[in-house]
Amino acid sequence: MNVLVINCGSSSLKYQVIDSVTEKVEAKGLCERIGIDGNFTYQPAGGEKEESAKPMPTHNEAVSFVIEALTNEKTGVLKSLDEIDCVGHRIVHGGTNLTHSYVVTEEVVKEIEDCADLAPLHNPAHVLGIRACQKLMPNTPMVVVFDTAFQQTMPAKAYLYAIPYKYFEEDKVRKYGFHGTSHMFVSQRALELMGNPEHSKLIVCHLGNGASVSCEVDGKCQENSMGLTPLDGLVMGTRCGDIDPSVVEFLNKKHGLSVEEILKIFNKESGVYAISDGKSDFRDIAGAAEKGDERAQLALDMFAYRVAKYIGSYVAAMNGVDAICFTAGIGENNGMIRKMICDYLTFLGLELDDEANKVIGDEKLISTADSKVKAYVIPTNEELAIARETVALVK
Ligand code: AMP
Repeated sequence: MNVLVINCGSSSLKYQVIDSVTEKVEAKGLCERIGIDGNFTYQPAGGEKEESAKPMPTHNEAVSFVIEALTNEKTGVLKSLDEIDCVGHRIVHGGTNLTHSYVVTEEVVKEIEDCADLAPLHNPAHVLGIRACQKLMPNTPMVVVFDTAFQQTMPAKAYLYAIPYKYFEEDKVRKYGFHGTSHMFVSQRALELMGNPEHSKLIVCHLGNGASVSCEVDGKCQENSMGLTPLDGLVMGTRCGDIDPSVVEFLNKKHGLSVEEILKIFNKESGVYAISDGKSDFRDIAGAAEKGDERAQLALDMFAYRVAKYIGSYVAAMNGVDAICFTAGIGENNGMIRKMICDYLTFLGLELDDEANKVIGDEKLISTADSKVKAYVIPTNEELAIARETVALVK
């Protein structure tokens, strides 16, 4: 089956066509600046990347360009639209009611709209993407896969905030956790690599520009470091992660900043970007630290320390751990950060294999044969996870 995987933002649309049998990407690309001036990229497997300015006033035009490129006589990978067997949409927030993946129906779309207050930047854009695809492919089955679904197995003691219960009951204020599709993909792959043991305790560190840690007992998620929104938890590229909520009141009183202004600072101007004085890419930060920039070094130290603290707390939450997995841009590619994190974990009997830890971007066991806890690098593949879910539901 050919699965079109769509990841829609308010002004962008990422797409991939995946062959569900070979699990190979046949083509991929990106529509950017939707509603502004429109920029389109398309790359067939093994072919040249094409980029062009294309007017895209709405997501409808963006999806039309995607289909046009995929079925183009010369560079397309499909003969016609009919060769798209199903569409899988990535959706950020499923609230409390959308707890797994679903075939798209009007009721499901309404639920996605109903929890838009929990993800106001994302869910309305996802609905635009679904509508645009429905318009052009009215008979093609579609599936929605939620970033919050994998975390639905978290127990109440993990997901509740200790604030008046009515805010949970009436307003659904709770921890949801994010990057669920990635945590699911990586934890399932880790279990395969471990020979699918009957009982297992895993920790997955998704370390990218956005970053989160999760833990899984017997494959079921118990905890995720993100919260009601993706702002919570680790120190990230530009997000602050854990912070005393009273800082909001303090900054408001001291500088007259509004809640919106403070949240913008927490989301866009904080994290390693703030500590390193203006760098959010770990390659730049590591380069500066190497040249003796103390603030860049402090940013790396804070990042690794926070990840290690979360791992430690999750080991306590699960009363043990069998394997720790690293994924996403930093987790897959930056051996120095992996080592900084693992150096905090020798008390667990985790022994890093320094040679294996040189790996960049490939799947690898990076702990020694004697290590009491395994450590893996497992490249994430959210699009493939969405394609698998889509085919499973459509079938
Ligand atoms: P992501 O959000 O998963 O795309 O991850 C982005 C982060 O991964 C950035 O901070 C990058 O510096 C880091 N990253 C990506 N590729 C590499 C690489 N080859 N070496 C080191 N860091 C990398």
